[in-house]
This record gives sequence, C-alpha cells and structure tokens, in this order.
Amino acid sequence: MKIVVLIKEVPDTWGERRLDLETGLSDRTASAPVLDEIDERAVEAALAYADAHPGTEVTVVAMAPASATATVRKALAMGATSAAHVVDDALRGADLLLTAEVLAAAVRHHGFDVVIAGNLSTDGGGGVIPAMVAELLGVPQLTGLRTLELSDSAVAGDRVSDSGTMRVSADLPAVVSITEALPEGRFTTFKGIMAAKKKPYETLDAAGLDIDPNDPATPRYIMLSVAERPPRKAGTKIVDEGDAGEKLAAFLMAEGVAR
Ligand SMILES: Cc1cc2nc3c(=O)[nH]c(=O)nc-3n(C[C@H](O)[C@H](O)[C@H](O)COP(=O)(O)OP(=O)(O)OC[C@H]3O[C@@H](n4cnc5c(N)ncnc54)[C@H](O)[C@@H]3O)c2cc1C
Repeated sequence: MKIVVLIKEVPDTWGERRLDLETGLSDRTASAPVLDEIDERAVEAALAYADAHPGTEVTVVAMAPASATATVRKALAMGATSAAHVVDDALRGADLLLTAEVLAAAVRHHGFDVVIAGNLSTDGGGGVIPAMVAELLGVPQLTGLRTLELSDSAVAGDRVSDSGTMRVSADLPAVVSITEALPEGRFTTFKGIMAAKKKPYETLDAAGLDIDPNDPATPRYIMLSVAERPPRKAGTKIVDEGDAGEKLAAFLMAEGVAR
C-alpha cells in the first residue's frame, strides 16, 4: 500500500499572524513555522495504518519554500518513509488551482493508492485543495472525514454535515481529507529524529513536474489589492441602573438591528 500525505507548513497557530501587505502572503517571519496540526493528524492516520500493516509506504508531499525542510523532516521523524518537497520560487503566491496542479503532479510522479490531506489549512483556509487534487488525478474524493477505515482495496469513513452524518466509501485509488476529530499526531522521539536524517528526501521543481506556473493559457486569479483586517472597535458598555433593557433596545434600534 502506498499512502501519500499532503503536508503544509503554516505560521504557528498560537503565534502572531501578519499579512505581508505588498505580496498578500503570510509574513513568514512573524511567527515560527510549523507543520499544520491538521496535517499532523493526517500523517498519524497514515502511520496508524502502517503500524498495523508492515510494508506500507508513507510518503509526505509538500509544496513550500526551501526553508520548510525542518517541517518536512518532522513528518519523517514521526515515522513517514520518504518525502517529496516541491521547491520553486516561481510558485510563490500560487493560487489554489496552481497548488492543486503541483500537488497532483507530485503525487502522480510518486504513485499512490490513497492520498490523505487535512480538510482545511489553518492559514490559507481554502478547504478545496483535496477535492481539486482528486479531480486532477481522476479518482474519487471523500472529504471531511471524522473517521477513517482503510483496507487493501477501499477506504470508508463518516462525514458530518450540518444536517447529519453520511457514511461514505470508495474503491482505491482515492483522495481523502480528514477533520480534527481524528487523533493528534504522535510525538517525535530522538531515535525518530536521527532516523529521519537518513530517509529519502526528494526535491522537485515545477519544470520537473512539467508545470509552467506562468502559462498564460491557464486561468489564475490575480490579487488586485490587499488590506489588513481593521482593528476591532471598542464595544458599547451598558451599565444597568434599572433601565438596561431600555438602553439595550435603544442601542439595537440605533444600530438598525431592531425597530
Ligand atoms: C515559495 C512558496 C511560498 C508560499 N507562501 C505561502 C503563504 O505565504 N501563505 C499560504 O497560505 N501559502 C503559501 N504557499 C503555499 C500555497 O500557495 C498554498 O498552500 C495554497 O494556496 C493552498 O491553500 P490553502 O492552505 O487555502 O489550502 P486548503 O485547501 O485549506 O488545504 C487543505 C489541505 O490541503 C493540503 N495542502 C494545502 N496546501 C498544501 C501545500 N502547499 N503543500 C502540501 N499540502 C498542501 C494539506 O493537507 C491541507 O491540510 C507557498 C508556497 C510556496 C512554494
């Protein structure tokens, strides 16, 4: 079984987050870069299967700046077998479609039975990369799974929506994305960190994957402007002097919330 896990480096969820107002990209110097927690869970799901099925190959694939090597190696230290890291400055600022094209090409280049991804990254938050990758690979997609059952020939799981829970399954090959309901990623050990240094680490670029990031024939979005979220205004405090209800009603009417 060949499992490919898509992993993204993101700014630390608990650290400061800033937008670079010139490029519209995250300011990667604002806080420590980390492996996205949802992708740690995706790696864990793959490793849990590999633990129970010796001979399983778990490859992590990342499209990220060259500086993301330590983050990719963390997934190797957790126990992944090998890594493919797509590094190319021409991919800086890649939109969702270009990112999906690159990731699908890297997955195809490596070969796969199942691809596991997070359902939503904590920085970009597009939430569509797994579905786009599945489309480009021409395989079924099972997105937003809160449980995951993998066998030699099929994958199944529960998908929760606002109105209920769906049980879904597909024959392999397939792409799945998982939610935070799946177990957290395991801790790395000293032994794992040392072993990671010797594991296969392939560096790829767009040309090597036969992708032209500047192909004028391919539709791409263009960022027209970028602005920081305005600071939140201080709220209005209503002091109850026996007339809080009236004051609240007057406030809501003034705001146009009630008449
Ligand atoms: C040089 C360079 C600089 C970059 N700078 C930025 C940046 O500043 N900000 C930014 O958000 N992105 C950056 N990227 C990455 C890329 O543009 C985004 O990953 C992409 O737009 C995905 O959007 P998303 O996070 O909204 O996807 P979502 O659909 O929310 O992601 C869902 C899941 O898809 C997978 N996935 C998503 N992106 C990647 C990836 N790149 N590699 C592997 N798996 C992935 C993960 O499993 C993730 O959990 C950079 C890439 C390169 C090469």
